[in-house]
Amino acid sequence: MKMDAKFIEERKDDLEKRRQELLKELNEDAVQVAEHDYSAKFVDYGEKDDENAAEVATFEKNLSLEKTLEVSLYNVNISLKKIEEGKYGLCEKCGDPIDPERLKAFPSATSCMSCKKKLL
Ligand SMILES: [Zn+2]
Repeated sequence: MKMDAKFIEERKDDLEKRRQELLKELNEDAVQVAEHDYSAKFVDYGEKDDENAAEVATFEKNLSLEKTLEVSLYNVNISLKKIEEGKYGLCEKCGDPIDPERLKAFPSATSCMSCKKKLL
């Protein structure tokens, strides 16, 4: 089955948009340390105990957020690369086409529903 070029073009727009959003969020909550690597931002509130506690809380929040954003960005980049290579929309595990409705909801999905379910 060949993917509709228009459908892929639309998913590419979705992915580009998502990529910009993720980069924006990463720049707010994290510091870029390498091309594809970010570190959670450490905010210095002060030296008092409650300020130190708040720093740790913010850092921990940024840390988990940063990880989530980084993984999302990684998946978006992979999907964009697949579009370039003409492999977009195929399941990584079994090679079958991924349901277009699933790609509409999750443009960076890399596996079909039945493979995804096997992992759960
Ligand atoms: Zn599959």
